[in-house]
Amino acid sequence: MRFDGKTVLITGGARGIGRGIGEAFMAEGANVCVTDLDDPGDLPDGFTLYEADVTDPDRAMEICDQIEEKFGQLHILINNAGIVRDKLLVMMEPADWELVIKINLMGMFNYGKAAGTKMMRKRYGRIVNISSIASVRGGRGQTNYAAAKGGANAFTRGLALELAKRNVTVNAVAPGMIETKMSEQVRNLAGDLILKGIPVKRYGQVADIANAVLFLASEEASYITGQVLCVDGGMTVGFSF
Ligand code: NDP
Repeated sequence: MRFDGKTVLITGGARGIGRGIGEAFMAEGANVCVTDLDDPGDLPDGFTLYEADVTDPDRAMEICDQIEEKFGQLHILINNAGIVRDKLLVMMEPADWELVIKINLMGMFNYGKAAGTKMMRKRYGRIVNISSIASVRGGRGQTNYAAAKGGANAFTRGLALELAKRNVTVNAVAPGMIETKMSEQVRNLAGDLILKGIPVKRYGQVADIANAVLFLASEEASYITGQVLCVDGGMTVGFSF
């Protein structure tokens, strides 16, 4: 299998896109470790759960140490944990701004640093950051989220350059509208309108994102680094009738 003997850590991996990515890695033979705020109680057998808030840098270091002790090496990091707190800027409180930046962006710094340091020393690693198409096209009520995800793209490019010589690649996947709890409210509010704006005329599925992530984490992608891949059914390309 493609990821036999490899160990992957996925932040916010207990549900949604992160969980789907974990299941896809497990099906390809990887040891799957996930972090999440709490134990949802229904994780697939074979997932190793570390309860953690991604905003805690010490916990990130501790988890990466524990993974190395348990599995020998941490090969792949998926920075996935994220939240939205959508509000028009005039209504947005500083706390809404701060929390979104902290979880989406500082979480990437914490785990990118903890895992990246270990990968650098072992001269092997794959880091995939989960961004969003909000990083490349504006969305009303998402100034905080867009700023965080734009930051994630810039972080991806910077870290890619820092780690390239050590055989560690760093890329980002920017999902469009994926059917998870996070997008539920907006799909319920404006589903017809959104579907009109998606050239392939369907919402994305967790598997669509997992397929892209597994490719970027694979040996076949060893010459790809610092890139942001939009997996969005064509949404960022333009409008199609
Ligand atoms: P979900 O809300 O379904 O899942 C997010 C996961 O992150 C949950 O398991 C959640 O834990 C966890 N999480 C939230 N806050 C923290 C924290 N402080 N520390 C640790 N874990 C945390 O969202 P998706 O699966 O849809 O989103 C995953 C990623 O994909 C996010 O980065 C998101 O921005 C991005 N994305 C999603 C899109 C979509 O359409 N769904 C579109 C574009 C990007 P808990 O369950 O305990 O809250």
